[in-house]
Amino acid sequence: MTKASSLELHKLRKELEVLEEKKGKGTELVSLYIPPDKNLNDVTSQMREEYSQAMNIKSARTRKNVQSALEVIMQRLKLIKEVPENGIVLLVGTIPRGTKDKMEVYMITPPERVMTYIYHCDSQFLLQPIRDMLTEKGTYGLLVLDRGEATVGLLGGKRIEVVRKINSTVPGKHGRGGQSQRRFERLIEIAAHEYFKRIGDHASKIFMNTPDLRGVVVGGPGPTKDFFINEGYLHHEVQKKVLGVIDTSYTDDFGIRELVDNASEIFKDLEVTKEKNLVQRFLREIVKDHGLAAYGEKEVRGFLNRGAVDALLISEEVESFRLVIACSSCDYKENKTVHDLKTFEKELPEKACPKCGEKSLGIDEFKSTLDELTELADRIGANIEVISTETEEGQQLKAFGGIAAILRFRP
Ligand code: ZN
Repeated sequence: MTKASSLELHKLRKELEVLEEKKGKGTELVSLYIPPDKNLNDVTSQMREEYSQAMNIKSARTRKNVQSALEVIMQRLKLIKEVPENGIVLLVGTIPRGTKDKMEVYMITPPERVMTYIYHCDSQFLLQPIRDMLTEKGTYGLLVLDRGEATVGLLGGKRIEVVRKINSTVPGKHGRGGQSQRRFERLIEIAAHEYFKRIGDHASKIFMNTPDLRGVVVGGPGPTKDFFINEGYLHHEVQKKVLGVIDTSYTDDFGIRELVDNASEIFKDLEVTKEKNLVQRFLREIVKDHGLAAYGEKEVRGFLNRGAVDALLISEEVESFRLVIACSSCDYKENKTVHDLKTFEKELPEKACPKCGEKSLGIDEFKSTLDELTELADRIGANIEVISTETEEGQQLKAFGGIAAILRFRP
């Protein structure tokens, strides 16, 4: 199965936001989920059956709307030569728009395989199965420790959460005068054992109560973590899930984040690691003199136009539009980036044309900045990565205005 790119997932998330707002007047919006191995002829005959069933719908308007939706679906099904590898999602229905109603049709290629065939008729589209596909599955248990403290955390999707801290009661290694060194060492050993046992109990309990736990990664400075693992302080069910033991410098919240960074080989298939690596590469370049990185919409667009971009990084929170403004009284034209489109559209008719002075400016072309930049990137074969704001690196990218590039060369 080919994995959907971060750009495709981002666009689908945006599309879902729009689809969530769609409401029919009655139970007349049809959602159809077709798994890849489903025979389309069978689906068509079921639609025919639903069509005749719909005769029984009491409200004339709902009946008409459901039947037209089913007709559209049957037409669409005829056009499909082959079901894509993940299946198809069809959302069809009449959406009220002011005084007029309009039939809307959405055909979605799902990012994951449709497992169950669903025919659903309601006043809203059924979107939960797609939402489920968009959340990254599985959680990883994180544990960092040394003889002084331990921290337990979880990594779910892109979110790192610190769940519990455990402080040590183990006395320092150097004995005080009066006690025999041997007796003192014995006390330390008992205290350490108690402390490790507490860590093991807390961590095991947290990890075993985590549904869909994929694995556990343990870190810390020095040999304590290895001792902890080798002596079997974790519950054997959790112990089986240990994917790796990794060096970190810290054992607090920062150590948990360090663990995720240092374990990138273990997490290499996770979206979060890909994002972190790219942003870190950008940050390393940007601090150099003449480093191979750029940021800011204008700068990045310039490098894209010159074919110099290797990877385009866009924060998921970049919400702006690229417009061509034209005057209908003269030949004035202008490219413009707008962040608040609604306000801009409202104020535009009041603005005078800079060339002829007439209040006759209008929007000629319209694209989101994301679409515009990704089209440019596509043209030169650059990688495109939409970066979430859930990670520290994502926040850093946002601080750079949300648009950045790693360059192939400096033209
Ligand atoms: Zn003009």
